[in-house]
Amino acid sequence: MSRKARPGKWTRVLLCLLCLLLLPIPVAARQHGAVASGQTTVRTRLRTSKNPPPNAVEPLIPDFSTWSGGLVLYDPAKDTTPREGVDIEESEFFFVGPLFVRPMTLGVVIHHVGVPAGDISAERIHRAHIGNGWNGIGYHYVIRQDGTIERGRPLATVGAHAYGFNESTVGINLSGDFEWEVPTYAQMESLTELVTAICRIYRLKPGEETISGHCDMNYDTACPGRNLYPLLPGLWEDVRDRLR
Ligand SMILES: [Zn+2]
Repeated sequence: MSRKARPGKWTRVLLCLLCLLLLPIPVAARQHGAVASGQTTVRTRLRTSKNPPPNAVEPLIPDFSTWSGGLVLYDPAKDTTPREGVDIEESEFFFVGPLFVRPMTLGVVIHHVGVPAGDISAERIHRAHIGNGWNGIGYHYVIRQDGTIERGRPLATVGAHAYGFNESTVGINLSGDFEWEVPTYAQMESLTELVTAICRIYRLKPGEETISGHCDMNYDTACPGRNLYPLLPGLWEDVRDRLR
C-alpha cells in the first residue's frame, strides 16, 4: 500500500518541473503588487501635498481678512468720476485700509453729525472714524454750517455710512445736531446744489427712492434728526426744479 501511495521517480520529476514553471507566477504577482503599492504611495503623497489630509481639522470660521466681497480695489488714477460742477474743498485724506469701487449708485443718503453746538469738519470726522478702527471718514461729503462742502471719501468709492446700503449710495453729512438745532440756509443751499450734481452724474430721478435720510435705511437711528428729515420732500422738489 505504502509503495503504491509513494509517487514514482518520474512523477516526482514532473512535479518539480511543474513547480519550476509555476514559480514565476507568484513572483510576477508580487512585482505587480509592488507597482500597485508604489502607485498607492504616490497617490498618498499627492493627496498630502495638494489637499489637506483626511484627518486635518478645518477652521470653523473661514478667513475673510483679505476678502473684498467681490468688490474691485479703488485706483485713484483709473477710477475717476465726473466733476460735480460745484465748489468743493478737496482733501487728501490718508485711508488706513483699502477703498473699493462702488459698483452702482442708486441714491443719496443724508446724515447729520449729531454733535450739538459744533461745526465739525471732515478732517475731524476722518480722525474720529480712524479712532473707531475704520479706514477713515465714511461719508463722501461734509457740509459745514457756512455751506462749505468738504470732500470725504472719493465719490467713486464704497462709503461707510449706511449699513447694508454702502455699495449703492453716496453719503452726505451735514454738520450739526438736527434733533435739537436746524440746518442753516447756506447748508440747505449747498445740499441742494450737491444732490442736484450727484443726480445729474448718476442719472437719478429725485424723490423718495433716491434721496433718503439715514433713518430710512437703518431703523435704529434718528439721523438726520427730526428738524432735517422733514425737509427732504422739499429737497426732492428743489432738485427736480434744478435738473429741469
Ligand atoms: Zn447718519
